[in-house]
Amino acid sequence: MLTKTIKDEKEFPKDSTIGSYWITTFGCQMNKADSERMAGTLEKMGYTKADEELQADLVLYNTCTIRDNAEQKVYSFLGRQAKRKHKTPSLKLVVAGCLAQQEGESLLRRVPELDLVMGPQHLNNLENLLGKVDAGNQVAATEETFISEDITNARRESSICGWVNIIYGCNERCSYCVVPSVRGKEQSRYPNAIKSEIQKLANDNFKEVTLLGQNIDAYGRDLPGTTKEGRKENTLTDLLYYIHDVEGIRRIRFATSHPRYFSKRLIQACYELDKVCEHFHIPFQSGNNEILKLMARGYTIDKYKRIIENIRSLMPNASITADAIVAFPGESEGQYRDTLKLISDIGFDQVMTAAYSPRPNTPAAIWHNQISEDVKKERLKEINELVEITSKKRNERYLDNIESILIEGLNPKKSSQIMGRTRTNRLTFVEIPNNSEFNFSLGDEIDVRINEARPFSLTGELCL
Ligand code: SF4
Repeated sequence: MLTKTIKDEKEFPKDSTIGSYWITTFGCQMNKADSERMAGTLEKMGYTKADEELQADLVLYNTCTIRDNAEQKVYSFLGRQAKRKHKTPSLKLVVAGCLAQQEGESLLRRVPELDLVMGPQHLNNLENLLGKVDAGNQVAATEETFISEDITNARRESSICGWVNIIYGCNERCSYCVVPSVRGKEQSRYPNAIKSEIQKLANDNFKEVTLLGQNIDAYGRDLPGTTKEGRKENTLTDLLYYIHDVEGIRRIRFATSHPRYFSKRLIQACYELDKVCEHFHIPFQSGNNEILKLMARGYTIDKYKRIIENIRSLMPNASITADAIVAFPGESEGQYRDTLKLISDIGFDQVMTAAYSPRPNTPAAIWHNQISEDVKKERLKEINELVEITSKKRNERYLDNIESILIEGLNPKKSSQIMGRTRTNRLTFVEIPNNSEFNFSLGDEIDVRINEARPFSLTGELCL
């Protein structure tokens, strides 16, 4: 950890009274969950949430570096706050998350107005690190460290759906991915700690939990545990059976799966366990085996297709979503078309797409056969058009169906509608009948007849 005493107090006098905070989160669900925990720590310290960013006494950016544009976005935000700091020297500026881990101390040199740069593994130590800042130091905390069990009382954005981290980091070495170098080695939380967090959420009237991990199928690999019938216990499947009886929780989700480790036993558990929702997010990344080998993904298209067949043989209506990368170094037109073909063959409910972006400390970034930006744009445009068509076609299976919707709130764009999701994770809007009898609360599950299907959302009417 770097602690540098500020040379000239006059330049940036420190104000230790507690004030207001603002957190901006970039990137994935794990970052969202981490930001909720940091907000919890700040509020425990006595900070209050600012109404807007430019009023806050402490501004924290929880950053992403999965692609270059995510990284560049942070610098534009930082530039604005750095200017503000010259007018308001007491402002505290914090950069957390994956970009902080990737850049570390060099970020303090690039943006000298920064007070704290902290990697995702140092999250539980936020209070101590801010203590060092209040003592007049500029701090960079990015060394690999053991993530102790989380004691923070997260300040959750939703009052009914809770994110629950179960494993941090990733031991895979996908040749395009920066995650292992910024989030570190796999560290699974103990099942009883996870269950007590879920129990606490249930006590606070939460109805749904989403278990999170970069490679969630790796859960438990690093935990000491017995081996039964040649199989390691403490796997994700064991965890699902273990947490299933928490009263009050009605829906259990998990993400992100890895086809290399996705087991039949897990599919069976999802089929048997009522609360586990029929939605699987299983990134395939490419539809071509040579490219998958170059990506070091560790599975073939045949294996991937078998996983989907196994899921659909037990849960034909399950929703399957995925991630895909186009224009990976050396990807030929034909190999790219294999990706389009896989999307059509499987008929995904949704595919998150991205053009390959070279990332620091990743093998593929230095390969000479990089694809041009023009071709990247073309392929991304075409694959997004295809995904829109296949997702809409897939969503049409809900038409005239009665679906159970967990109410998450009002439609921010149309207040005469409530919004929620099906068990298959389809965002659904429901017109509120304007007769007085109908009362609802967040977290209620209501039956809705679907009458409109769009690529990425549904609309329905309440079954009265
Ligand atoms: S499994 Fe691969 S793509 Fe996913 S986080 Fe790990 S290294 Fe990255």
